[in-house]
Parts: sequence; structure tokens; C-alpha cells
Amino acid sequence: MSRDNGKIPRIGVLALQGDFLEHRQMLERLGALVREVRLPEHLDGLDGLIIPGGESTTMGKLAVDFGLIEPLRAFAAEKAMWGTCAGAIFMSKDARRDQPLLGVMNIEVERNAFGRQVDSFEIDIDVPALRVVDPDPKPFHAIFIRAPLIEAVHPPAEVLARLPDGRIVAAQQGHLLATAFHPELTDDPRFHQYFLHLVRQAAPAR
Ligand code: GLN
Repeated sequence: MSRDNGKIPRIGVLALQGDFLEHRQMLERLGALVREVRLPEHLDGLDGLIIPGGESTTMGKLAVDFGLIEPLRAFAAEKAMWGTCAGAIFMSKDARRDQPLLGVMNIEVERNAFGRQVDSFEIDIDVPALRVVDPDPKPFHAIFIRAPLIEAVHPPAEVLARLPDGRIVAAQQGHLLATAFHPELTDDPRFHQYFLHLVRQAAPAR
């Protein structure tokens, strides 16, 4: 399932800070070859990249310090990229504050949108797109930790999932993916399988 005509997908996980280890473990469980990315040259030869949760301002500043901003933008122009939580903020065009952003997805986010009272919560949400990898329509158990909301999604980005009250928590723009929640903290591999599906779609025939 995670193989592309016999080719094992090579996936990077941005490892400047945050919960990159959990992504690594889920990807390895699905048969991907995983590399931690800390420097621009670590992107060479990768088929896709995940940007984990953490703290988006810190992550952005470290990415500036390590000369990663332009290489990451160039990577996103061609290859699949997925940001979870802080990673989704980092991929957005607008986070309503002055912080380094890749700006590769045409989405606007509001950081820490759920406030101090309920800064973490878990809820089952419907993600119809996951039927590409598993026809079982069971909901996805979404874990939110000091999460952002995706306040606006502009074309060519599209809404991928909403909370029951309609607020947007996942978006896709071609081979780019943003989730406000943390599939890597669950046992459910479907979002990572969906990302590997985008990786295969973005990859030119090798
Ligand atoms: N609150 C963090 C931020 O704004 C994101 C939290 C997370 O990644 N779990 O960057």
C-alpha cells in the first residue's frame, strides 16, 4: 500500500523541534523510509516531507537560522508536504502575526484558537477524503493540542475536514496538506496513508 511500483517512498520529517518522532514511527509502520531533516541538503532525494506539531514561531525561527525557508518552498512547489498543527501554521500564508511562514498554502489560520480553557481536546470528525485509502467511513479521532483553526481557505486550497460546528480543521491544496490536529498521536494510520497517496500522485514516474 505504501509502495509505488516497488519503490519505497522516502519521506522526510522536519526535526527542528516538536513531535517529529511520532510521525517517524507511523511512517515506518507503513513501510516508508524516513529521514530527519535539519539542513537543506537533507531534502535531497526525498519524495515528501512532514512538518510536525510543536511551536510554530520557534520552528520558523530555526528554519530561518538553518537556511531552510527557500529550500522548503522549492520542495513544496514539487513534492508532497503535510503540516500538523504548528506545521500547518508554518505552511499557511497568514497567521495574523509577524512570524516566519513558508506561505505555500492559501489558507489563513488563527493560532491557539481554542483558548486556555479548552486548550486540548479530542473529537471524532468525518473526513470523506480518507475513503481513498480505506472505504470504511468510520470517523477519524482528532486530537487537538493548543491547536489553530483554519479560518479561511482560498482557492486552490480546499476544505478537507470540519468540526461538527462547521469550523475548518483540515485543508488540502493539490499535494499539500494541513491539519490542525495530530494524527501521529493516534493509532489510526489513515491520514499518513492518505499523505503517502499524495506523495505517489506528486511523484513523476521514476
Ligand atoms: N500552539 C502552537 C503554535 O501556535 C501549536 C501547537 C501544536 O503544534 N500542538 O505554534
